[in-house]
Amino acid sequence: MTTTAPTPSPASGPVRTRLFWTWDHCTEWALNRPGAQTIGASNPYFRSRDSFVADYTRLLKWCGQHGIDGVVVWGLLRDVHGGIDAARQLCDVARECGVRLLAGAGINAYGGVYYQGNSPYSLAAHLEKHPDLYAVDPNGAKLRNLPTMHQVACPSRPENQDFAVTSLRWLFEQLPTLGGVQIESGDTGMCQCRLCRDRRQFPAGVLSWEDMAMLYPMTVKAIRAVAPDAWIACETYSHPEPYAGPAERPPGFGDGKPVWADACLAKFPDDILVQWVADFHGPPRNDHPWTDAAKVNASPRHTHLMRAHFGTHWMGNIRGELALDWIAAMVQRGIASGCTATSLFGEVSPFNPSAELNYLALANLGSAANPTADINVFRRDVAAPLLGGVEPATAFAEFARRCRQPARIPDALTEIRRRMAGLDAAAARRWTCLAAWLASFAEDAAPAK
Ligand SMILES: [Zn+2]
Repeated sequence: MTTTAPTPSPASGPVRTRLFWTWDHCTEWALNRPGAQTIGASNPYFRSRDSFVADYTRLLKWCGQHGIDGVVVWGLLRDVHGGIDAARQLCDVARECGVRLLAGAGINAYGGVYYQGNSPYSLAAHLEKHPDLYAVDPNGAKLRNLPTMHQVACPSRPENQDFAVTSLRWLFEQLPTLGGVQIESGDTGMCQCRLCRDRRQFPAGVLSWEDMAMLYPMTVKAIRAVAPDAWIACETYSHPEPYAGPAERPPGFGDGKPVWADACLAKFPDDILVQWVADFHGPPRNDHPWTDAAKVNASPRHTHLMRAHFGTHWMGNIRGELALDWIAAMVQRGIASGCTATSLFGEVSPFNPSAELNYLALANLGSAANPTADINVFRRDVAAPLLGGVEPATAFAEFARRCRQPARIPDALTEIRRRMAGLDAAAARRWTCLAAWLASFAEDAAPAK
């Protein structure tokens, strides 16, 4: 029995593990520096090496102080922000803070282990050197005209499997204090070569459960040979609700679990985090129901993690938006489904009070201090002291939601001004930030002059 699953403390509530999840190019915790972006995957990086280290140093320290256990960094290894040396520096910071730094690592997609640069462990470099190993469409053409950093490799080719295994082993040899990885098998289209089509029994659209079941065991085994205590999160791109879509359309990102998924999950290695997606099965979208049928494997083999894109521009959300009740719904329903881990994007600085409250909610909801993930308990114990009291904390959440109702923003601004005089400096700063943020939505909705 390894010790790679997150170990609950005796005082744990039903949620025992909390992660932040980030792209390097959208992470901005060191303020007033150029180059941060507001959305994207596989973007180029426009900040400096100093900013990269400063962003994640601040982020890791905050996590250590506020009960977030780990931080996933996609784009961890790029020449432009210091490659292995900068990553090693951040591994040391994470260790000092008692937080796990996890590398985002694509298998056959998302850049591989060395995200961008002159490295034999860059997937783009590997495929450019061996163009016969690209994933292809049913006509044999290279899968898609994707950006250089998002080339897709054929998962069936042993050369690509060896590349993934070797790359991950190299990663942990280079970064012996790295806390773990989040690995993904790709969700931007699956290879349709003869080898892949003959291997799969079930349809593959943008993702393939069968490919996950083939690739995760071999890659996890390689990691554990070097780093037996690494945390390893394996992405499913799916929700545990049974998939109810049309038979001719295989499930896509965030859809439910098809009937063949359980047999694939049974092949996932022991003691990993299995990562699920909540965006389409709860508020604010509510595209599909989240019912009692959405049970994850209750065996001790896996830790199940539920996450959503709240507080980002993904999925029709808004970057930096307050999402307390949505996070509470995800955590409550996740607990009922059998999840003991949660995750949110952590790219926005907690100088933004809505981001700060979202992060503090992730830390509090489902903890020993709030085992039922009751938003009222969070408001009373965590938000109220930061915002001037329980009633102000309730009002703050109501006003923050008006970014989606620009006509109601002027009234909120009047009310916020009325409240300011009685607040202490820290609370007043949070309310000032909310007022300025809301005013920007009113300005944006106003007719051009
Ligand atoms: Zn293939």
